[in-house]
Amino acid sequence: MTDPSLDDNPTACPHCASSRAGLLCVCPAGKSPVLVVEMSQTSSIGSTEFFASQERKKERNTSRESSLKDLSIRTSNVERKPQAQWSRSNVTVGKIPHIRMDDGADIEEFYTFGRILGQGSFGMVFEVIDKETGAKWAIKKVNKEKAGSSAMKLLEREVSILKTVKHQHIIHLEQVFESPQKMYLVMELCEDGELKEVMDQRGHFSENETRLIIQSLASAIAYLHNKDIVHRDLKLENIMVKSSFIDDNNEMNLNIKVTDFGLAVQKHGSRSEGMMQTTCGTPIYMAPEVINAHDYSQQCDIWSIGVIMYILLCGAPPFLANSEEKLYELIKKGELRFEDPVWDSVSDSAKNALKQLMKVDPAHRITAKELLDNQWLTGNTLSSARPTNVLEMMKEWKNNPESDEETNTDEETEQSTVHSPSANSAKQPTDAPKKPVADSVGMTSSNSSSKLLSTEIKAEPEKSSETVGHATVAKTTLKSTTLFRGKKRL
Ligand code: ADP
Repeated sequence: MTDPSLDDNPTACPHCASSRAGLLCVCPAGKSPVLVVEMSQTSSIGSTEFFASQERKKERNTSRESSLKDLSIRTSNVERKPQAQWSRSNVTVGKIPHIRMDDGADIEEFYTFGRILGQGSFGMVFEVIDKETGAKWAIKKVNKEKAGSSAMKLLEREVSILKTVKHQHIIHLEQVFESPQKMYLVMELCEDGELKEVMDQRGHFSENETRLIIQSLASAIAYLHNKDIVHRDLKLENIMVKSSFIDDNNEMNLNIKVTDFGLAVQKHGSRSEGMMQTTCGTPIYMAPEVINAHDYSQQCDIWSIGVIMYILLCGAPPFLANSEEKLYELIKKGELRFEDPVWDSVSDSAKNALKQLMKVDPAHRITAKELLDNQWLTGNTLSSARPTNVLEMMKEWKNNPESDEETNTDEETEQSTVHSPSANSAKQPTDAPKKPVADSVGMTSSNSSSKLLSTEIKAEPEKSSETVGHATVAKTTLKSTTLFRGKKRL
């Protein structure tokens, strides 16, 4: 399916910012409500913009205060506010400073650059120290030319969305510095790295540990959906761990942050206009309706939460196959299996939550708001989150016809879980060495900086061409890679 409007722009899709030349993405004009913002606009969307002129370079040796005064004097059409007043506490939502500079090197007047935290799709991420406050931050440094126009569109989209959000489990964007060549995103530092890495070290998490993570994730996604923002690429690699500690029950408590809003969209308009059709995301986390490129909406994020929860509990994705087609077949069938022995110690309540998160039909899938009241998530067995009106009851029955039986079992299980968190100690994460990982579709060992995949599929030659099926054993150490394209060939 080709979008005629793309002809207006020979280099990039106006709806999803994917390179048209690479034919990675074709989204129907007007149906994919992607927020595409020009660089000049990005700065003005909910931001405070400053401009540092060439002259400022001559003043590098002057005090920071006078430099900032200079900055604020040169500010055009923006609120005049010295940077010294900027702090997280007084920066309101939508007021993320966006500072224009002639020379990217000027940022070193404000921050001391330290160790490299990682290499992203767009550039390096560094740990930095604010010279004035001593606070540590993470800075993503992007070379605009190297990144290319498609990647820059994704980055601009990420920035414009991050400027509008404020939630304890969503990465905080402190400020943006921009020169003609470079862009620097100053973000809160997540010292413990990616959730994927933490999980790989432990094998998998216990049910209580998973519950804490999913509570935070559900809260962040409910917040986004309430603002009509759909993340579209939720996966373990896009969840960072700011800090963690082991509690009295020897369970890990993680403070997580949702990151990477490059594929996120802000829906606009009526319900039908708010539907999307671009196939994007990462195969193993991709919802059935996204694979089908049917109209889909925020419910695709809920499916991905289900995949994340499944992986956290057992260490392997719910669906794995040796080819893209087979993987997609499994996802579209959506038959969850709990056969690996690790599932024996997982409560029926958790399994039931998974089934609700991973309903193939998005209309029957639990919503983010409903998830917050889910009995397993709240750990509340006393106040049942039973629906109070007939419509909701019908929906619950449709979602889970066997819920009456399961609820009884769940309640028994939950009693011990809730009142005695350490009762789950039998489910402590394994430290078993991880097996080499199947190079299955959706999981790739490539550390490629590009997150945009072509439709090419890599099947491991020495493996049987048979579908691996519901992988319950393989522990993955590989990084799943984002797929972003238009209608797929099926
Ligand atoms: P990508 O473009 O692949 O999504 P990013 O550019 O967001 O990756 O980040 C690259 C790597 O840098 C991440 O894998 C992570 O290890 C590290 N990183 C990114 N953001 C932060 C942060 N706020 N705090 C700590 N490390 C980070």
